[in-house]
Amino acid sequence: MKFLQAPWRWSFISGLINKENKCVFCSAQKQEGLDSLVCYRGRNYFVILNKYPYNTGHLMVVPYKHLTNPGEISPEDTMEMWSLMNKSLDILKENFSPDGFNIGMNIGDASGAGVKGHFHLHIVPRWSGDSNFMAVIGKTKVMSYDLEEVYNKISEGFKQ
Ligand SMILES: [Zn+2]
Repeated sequence: MKFLQAPWRWSFISGLINKENKCVFCSAQKQEGLDSLVCYRGRNYFVILNKYPYNTGHLMVVPYKHLTNPGEISPEDTMEMWSLMNKSLDILKENFSPDGFNIGMNIGDASGAGVKGHFHLHIVPRWSGDSNFMAVIGKTKVMSYDLEEVYNKISEGFKQ
């Protein structure tokens, strides 16, 4: 019997669980700069670059509070998530000229959420000719930019 080694998969899993067995979004917001991958900190939400992106510039809008359900945030405070999404779209369009976006949330055990228990909005830039959304998920992809470059561009965009 042959076993295929997949070390990237282990770093993916250990990255999600991490040493202290804590939620990655709760941990990330306590870190600074590139280590945190947090591009912007708002009042109730932060914008973070996905360490294991489906595509270049894959962002997530995440509440500071460890909440399972978007309904746990008041409609007034939910507006901030919407405006951070729009700002993210503007920044991604300006820097990476995507042809489209996939935006969505995975909620609950059957959804395929990578981080359970702390809801987050995915913003995935798309280019004509990249594979369809489902094929992108779960596959490693060659990225045209490195993570640091993308991080710097997006962080800079939020300062403008
Ligand atoms: Zn959390």
